[in-house]
Amino acid sequence: MGDDVSIDRARYDFKKAMQEIVNLRGRGTELISVYIPSHKQISDVTSYLRNEFSQSNNIKSKGTKKNVQGAIESIMSRLKTFKTVPENGLILFCGEVAAGGDQTRMVQYVLEPPEQISAFIYRCDSNFFIDPLTDMLREKKSYGLIVMDRSEASIGILMGKKVILIKNFDSQVPRKHRQGGQSAQRFERLIELAAHEFFKKIAHNVEEAFLERDDLQGIIVGGPGATKDFFVKEGYLHHELQKKVVDTFDAGYTDEYGLKELVTNAAASLHDMDLMREKELIQKLLSEIRKPGGGLSAYGEDHVRKVLISGAVDTLLVSEGLDMKRVKLSCINGHTREFTTSKTPSKLDCDECDSPVEDIESIDLVDHVFELAETVGSKLELI
Ligand code: ZN
Repeated sequence: MGDDVSIDRARYDFKKAMQEIVNLRGRGTELISVYIPSHKQISDVTSYLRNEFSQSNNIKSKGTKKNVQGAIESIMSRLKTFKTVPENGLILFCGEVAAGGDQTRMVQYVLEPPEQISAFIYRCDSNFFIDPLTDMLREKKSYGLIVMDRSEASIGILMGKKVILIKNFDSQVPRKHRQGGQSAQRFERLIELAAHEFFKKIAHNVEEAFLERDDLQGIIVGGPGATKDFFVKEGYLHHELQKKVVDTFDAGYTDEYGLKELVTNAAASLHDMDLMREKELIQKLLSEIRKPGGGLSAYGEDHVRKVLISGAVDTLLVSEGLDMKRVKLSCINGHTREFTTSKTPSKLDCDECDSPVEDIESIDLVDHVFELAETVGSKLELI
């Protein structure tokens, strides 16, 4: 679970940085973006940049040339701090961006992406090049997939956009033509028995595949005809997994292709499911709040922080759009004060001794909460 929190956090931090980066503009074609995959040597990147630097001597505008060369130099010196490229690769954005009026300011972002970068990219443009990252910013939650009829079943998982087959197997259910000498009634009974055994086998395999997965958002079941609905309605699945079944969908096939078909047919519902899950979490909170004494709920920043620190929090809901800072001030006499604000103050006097505040520490409020949650092992849901 601790890992989940840190992965969510890396994604959040990355997303936050991207929100800033996407709006930055250069005054000319002078913003540099560099994507370095993990297998690339730093020295190769440096010689590539050195070459770009000499190419930039041809730039006609003096201002643009100066800014491009400044950005390339800045990236090269930053790269010196890396011996090797990190596991998922490295992204650098650097340049002079417009900062209101005639002003510009130099920005440099060094990011380790939450997923692997596949290709080396160098771009010089009037904005930073972020196209390869849009897919990474999407949430990567998984859904369990089952396609089945009475003769075949496949179990798979949907992660991001990828459908992975986990298991495929056939049943021993006899085809619908009976052998001579068998009564029709007895044959029917045999079929039902064999089908029952097959459904149990599917449920057992589904349990093995999904029961231990924390990231499973829901299970969708598909296949031709009514068998899938019967399977769900009769409660063959482990009760924990049964709760996660969101719906059934038609799919013409029960093999790996059927899994993909299922995902296509369920696409609209999958999107709604993400929204629904958030709604459920919020409703759970509201129903606790309505209980006498507030039930098992806590809300409001100060109260939440208090119970969080005490280790009493199971799940913490945090609004992703929360654009606030947690600020810690300390004066020369060692007085400290901590509070939440929308904007980091630039200058302040100490409340206790009126001397100027010496040190201002400011972090994103969501990051601050992530840190607290990590320390005590609470689950955190960004919504
Ligand atoms: Zn003071």
